[in-house]
Amino acid sequence: MSETEAGRVRPRLHIGLTGGIASGKSTVAAELAALGALVVDADALSRAVVEPGSEGLDLVRQALGPTAIAADGTMDRAAVGKLVFADPEARNTLNGIIHPLVRAAGRRLVEEAGPDAVVVQDVPLLVETGQAGAYDLVLVVEAEAEERVARMIRDRGMTDAEARARMAAQATDEQRRAVADVLIVNDAGLEDLRRTTRRVWDEYVAPKLT
Ligand code: ATP
Repeated sequence: MSETEAGRVRPRLHIGLTGGIASGKSTVAAELAALGALVVDADALSRAVVEPGSEGLDLVRQALGPTAIAADGTMDRAAVGKLVFADPEARNTLNGIIHPLVRAAGRRLVEEAGPDAVVVQDVPLLVETGQAGAYDLVLVVEAEAEERVARMIRDRGMTDAEARARMAAQATDEQRRAVADVLIVNDAGLEDLRRTTRRVWDEYVAPKLT
């Protein structure tokens, strides 16, 4: 079933996937991909749009200066992360460069997927950027704050304070719940999370494909 909106091919089902930092979104996205969805990963696209030689990287260099670029010519994500975290104006500037490029790249992928696809967009800041209305179904992954802090410290080399500051800069669990069609609570092991994801697919996605 193909539907055209403003000249655009829409997928069969367009799912927005979100959740706080280190809540388990990538794990859910990987399981949805295994079930047949095309996953559009905003984080991956935000890296792709600033690859060496890209228009995006050029704009970042102009806006934030040479410290934004690592010796190998790629964007220095750690340096840029620190810079924009400490300076809201720089953060707005960076977002103003990256977000439109990511949205355009995402739109191209969705169009290429065609009208029969189930497309899942993994959008960490879906709530913060007011995009919930753009999807047929919004999945929210939620995990306990202390667990997420422990993951960020263990896997990403953050300090306790850095991890908590990252979380505090995002929407709250309540704000994400408010836009959720389906809430996936990640409070057990990874296999449980995958099993819950398969149940969500069976209940909310599969019926729409018949
Ligand atoms: P980010 O927003 O930073 O991209 P994310 O929401 O995509 O994070 P994941 O990458 O899926 O989160 O999970 C963060 C880390 O926590 C990963 O190393 C993942 O394997 C681990 N993890 C997630 N859920 C569980 C769980 N239930 N049990 C054990 N480890 C988990």
